[in-house]
Amino acid sequence: MALPTDFTFTDYDPYNFADRRHIGPSPVEMAAMLKTVGYSSLDALIDDTVPSSIRLKTPLKWDKPLTEREALDKMRETANLNQKLVSLIGQGYYGTITPPVIQRTILENPAWYTAYTPYQPEISQGRLEALLNYQTMVSDLTGLDIANASLLDESTAAAEAMAMAQRVAKSKSLTFFADENCHPQNIALLRTRAEPLGWNVVVGNPFTDLDTNNVFGAIFQYPGTHGHVHDFTPLMDKLHAAGAIGIVIADPLALCLLKSPGEMGADIAVGTTQRFGVPVGYGGPHAAYMAVKDEWKRSMPGRLVGVSVDARGNRAYRLSLQTREQHIRREKATSNICTAQVLLAVMASMYAVFHGPQGLKAIAQSVHQKTVRLAKGLEKLGYTVEPGTFFDTITIEVGKLQGVILKAAEAEEVNLRKIGNDRIGISLDERSRPVTLEAVWRAFGGDFKIEEFQPDWRLPEEMLRTSQYLTHPIFHMNRAESEMTRYIRRLSDRDLALDRSMIPLGSCTMKLNATAEMLPITWPEFAEIHPFVPDHQALGYKVMLDDLSQKLCDVTGYDAFSMQPNSGAQGEYAGLLTIRNYHFARGDNHRDVCLIPMSAHGTNPASAQMAGMKVVPVKASDNGDIDIADFRAQAEKHAANLSCVMITYPSTHGVFEETVREICDITHAHGGQVYLDGANMNAMVGLARPGDIGSDVSHLNLHKTFCIPHGGGGPGMGPIGVKAHLAPHLPGHPESDGKDGAVSAAPFGSASILPISWSYILMMGGEGLTQATKVAILNANYIAARLKGAYDVLYTSDKGRVAHECIIDTRPLQASSGVSVEDIAKRLIDCGFHAPTMSWPVAGTLMIEPTESETKAEIDRFCDAMLAIREETRAIEAGTMDRDNNPLKNAPHTVQDLVGDWDRPYSREQACFPPGAFRVDKYWPPVNRVDNVYGDRNLVCSCPPVSDYLEAAE
Ligand SMILES: *Cc1c(COP(=O)(O)O)cnc(C)c1O
Repeated sequence: MALPTDFTFTDYDPYNFADRRHIGPSPVEMAAMLKTVGYSSLDALIDDTVPSSIRLKTPLKWDKPLTEREALDKMRETANLNQKLVSLIGQGYYGTITPPVIQRTILENPAWYTAYTPYQPEISQGRLEALLNYQTMVSDLTGLDIANASLLDESTAAAEAMAMAQRVAKSKSLTFFADENCHPQNIALLRTRAEPLGWNVVVGNPFTDLDTNNVFGAIFQYPGTHGHVHDFTPLMDKLHAAGAIGIVIADPLALCLLKSPGEMGADIAVGTTQRFGVPVGYGGPHAAYMAVKDEWKRSMPGRLVGVSVDARGNRAYRLSLQTREQHIRREKATSNICTAQVLLAVMASMYAVFHGPQGLKAIAQSVHQKTVRLAKGLEKLGYTVEPGTFFDTITIEVGKLQGVILKAAEAEEVNLRKIGNDRIGISLDERSRPVTLEAVWRAFGGDFKIEEFQPDWRLPEEMLRTSQYLTHPIFHMNRAESEMTRYIRRLSDRDLALDRSMIPLGSCTMKLNATAEMLPITWPEFAEIHPFVPDHQALGYKVMLDDLSQKLCDVTGYDAFSMQPNSGAQGEYAGLLTIRNYHFARGDNHRDVCLIPMSAHGTNPASAQMAGMKVVPVKASDNGDIDIADFRAQAEKHAANLSCVMITYPSTHGVFEETVREICDITHAHGGQVYLDGANMNAMVGLARPGDIGSDVSHLNLHKTFCIPHGGGGPGMGPIGVKAHLAPHLPGHPESDGKDGAVSAAPFGSASILPISWSYILMMGGEGLTQATKVAILNANYIAARLKGAYDVLYTSDKGRVAHECIIDTRPLQASSGVSVEDIAKRLIDCGFHAPTMSWPVAGTLMIEPTESETKAEIDRFCDAMLAIREETRAIEAGTMDRDNNPLKNAPHTVQDLVGDWDRPYSREQACFPPGAFRVDKYWPPVNRVDNVYGDRNLVCSCPPVSDYLEAAE
């Protein structure tokens, strides 16, 4: 059959990921947007925005980009290179069963994983409730008064606990004691953290080596890394008598059966909630926890969810106290934790809701009884099993047989822990089955059936838990799956995440987290690999880590990458330690001054302080750029002791500063190193490279530029790239190269989320990534153009351009109409939007970052909302709207505002359906404006008592 004469072949490629999925505006939309900005082509706009002096000369050139299907095939191939054995290695990582309802409705649900940290409480009530459940769970299990909403991993939590102990202890000693039974990675991180701060870590047997009079604190692992279950009560008493702090690293599953740290008198408890339904994932991500006595609550690092009230007096949740404390306290901040592990904390809390105290206890008992049966079999074979009483972990003397047994176990598809040259450790878990035990026995030369051994108890009797936990009704709800599904759905419906609208948070890069990128992370071949398996079992991970590192080197112009840091702030810390090690290796131990511009992100000075550096602030000039004269003066003044400078590029003001090369040159001339905060890489990928500009080290926020979702405040990954001269000084790890300086519990941080960034890069290709950067810049300049006249755009280049974000100044409105930046942020909720970044880097401003993923229609909806808000302020200026009783001051409005009496001088229609808001798919915040002051004065950080629920029901 002949083709009709008017038939043409299309060049449209429906599978091109860059064009059709990831980049929002279509070519037609881009043309219209460019016209608004005043350019005839995208390249002309970019030429006017990114200084030619820093532009990349040769474009990123890799293989042809993959389609979604090809990328998934590649991920499958890579995953299959990992060998999924049953790992009984323990050491802080255990098999666990993720309840399918939690996997599907939380971990695989964009309503949960694409949300941001809940700084705007009115649009975050769902995840705030889930986090409050988490805090309640942790505080109950540990027997301590107050718990935070997660930390990065157990080892960093232990280091944070040590630092907190040093702050609050009466003892002025600079020595800290660590139980030799702590997991090796925990001891490694204590050492890393202590060294630059001048603290001494003594490791030993707490019952014979601990000199309580000469320490500011001590930390114990419970159960110990080799299975011992000790009562630390007498040590706590002695520590307290000497004005020192007692810390217990506790396994939350063990706490279901054993006396809690609180009952021992501990001041602080930390640990990981990994085994509450979060797969090991070759090291992470999982949520660590910290709980403290009431008297220390104001010194606790990390985020803390609290209960407050809204404008109607209804209960509302919010982040309390130290929210964004780094931005306020800078180098005096108590820690640099910004991104934590919210998504994983939500999963762990739902695991507790799913099982309730009864279920958790049953799981703990079953794990214990399996371990007892295993021990009995090994004893029958003539082995000595240590310790006499235990929870889930035993240690076996095997002498010269170690190698043979480990090999035999591997042949049975079981990994055991190698301890020294003559012992083997085994930890059982929720997933261990009779066949698992039988395989272990065979490896030790025994042919038993599990029925041959009675499941007795070998828990120390005096340590049995008698106190209750998880008594709150939330942990006793009907566990029918219909109830669970609806509870999780109700919570996510209360929140605004990327699945509903753009989230224009400047500096946070809330871009598309494509489904194809997300799929592989729950595949067992990635999710169920223990971080300490032999290298040959993790070849898939190796292939991915190598290729991803190489591509990130290509993107940044660095020579080597460390994948260890599991957040941006941890990357800063690791990068600064790398610089510090470099100076030390050259005998320049005195170099400890770190220059940081005033506009820097708060984690910069906090990380510098943790790395033992003295922070010297550098002024900004009126246009927001680094004041080059002041910079030069400070660099000269501190030349002898200059360690480094920390700059952000493009600047946190959203501008490509022309002076960046000069700043690098001045720094190097004075013997310093340049740390370039890579949080704004979304404005540079494919256009410019930090390594070419003159920087020596950067972290990349893979959860910003490289598509890992923010998860409501974590997980994240903050790998660091360095120039060759710094590569030998990157962090080591006791379980990989055996070197010092570990900054994360696992050698590759939160390795299991790396397939997201890797598949993003593979599907975009070099050209696609470059196009994404250009469109991110176009989208930001389009917003600046559309809002011009209504709002002042604060900082622009001399050509009038912004980079990938723009700052609008709302301070004039405060003066003319009494409307604050917060009023605007809350009014945006009525319009169906998450507010842009508020009051950072400049108080009273909004920093807007649309990213390349947003379409013209969505950006227009946002601009329409912003322009309508400006009109409302004009009505106040003109006196036609009341200064105090207006839609801005009363925002956000809820469904409650649609019913009952209405005595406001504006209509319900105007209140609830301003421009931007959808008619049918309207987002309704569950609460009116939340009262922050009330919440801090009346600090409640666990689930409110039942009586409150009864009141609410009346
Ligand atoms: C987000 C951000 C950080 C911190 O990253 P986290 O992953 O949240 O620790 C540091 N600097 C800048 C400029 C950022 O935007």
